[in-house]
Amino acid sequence: MEEDKKACWNCRWYSAAYTKGYHRFDKQNFGMCRHDKCVQKNECCTAWQYNTRANMNVKRQMRRQISLKTLKDVLEHLSEISQILKENSDDTSFRTQ
Ligand SMILES: [Zn+2]
Repeated sequence: MEEDKKACWNCRWYSAAYTKGYHRFDKQNFGMCRHDKCVQKNECCTAWQYNTRANMNVKRQMRRQISLKTLKDVLEHLSEISQILKENSDDTSFRTQ
């Protein structure tokens, strides 16, 4: 029972691995532990530490910041593509007249 409580999946150092699916990311049964060690989620390693609410909030905040930065980058790329297509379209219509 104690071993179940100390599984890697609920350790503060565990980060689950995901693979990219068609429309979403699929969570895998393994991930990274402390010091970049790959572990199965139900393993129990010597680095296990209690995952505090404060630690979970820090990780949640980090994921939020990374997501917002990525969205901002994507919006900039879309804007650039839109500008290029618009300029190409303007050039084409100018030539045909
Ligand atoms: Zn671990």
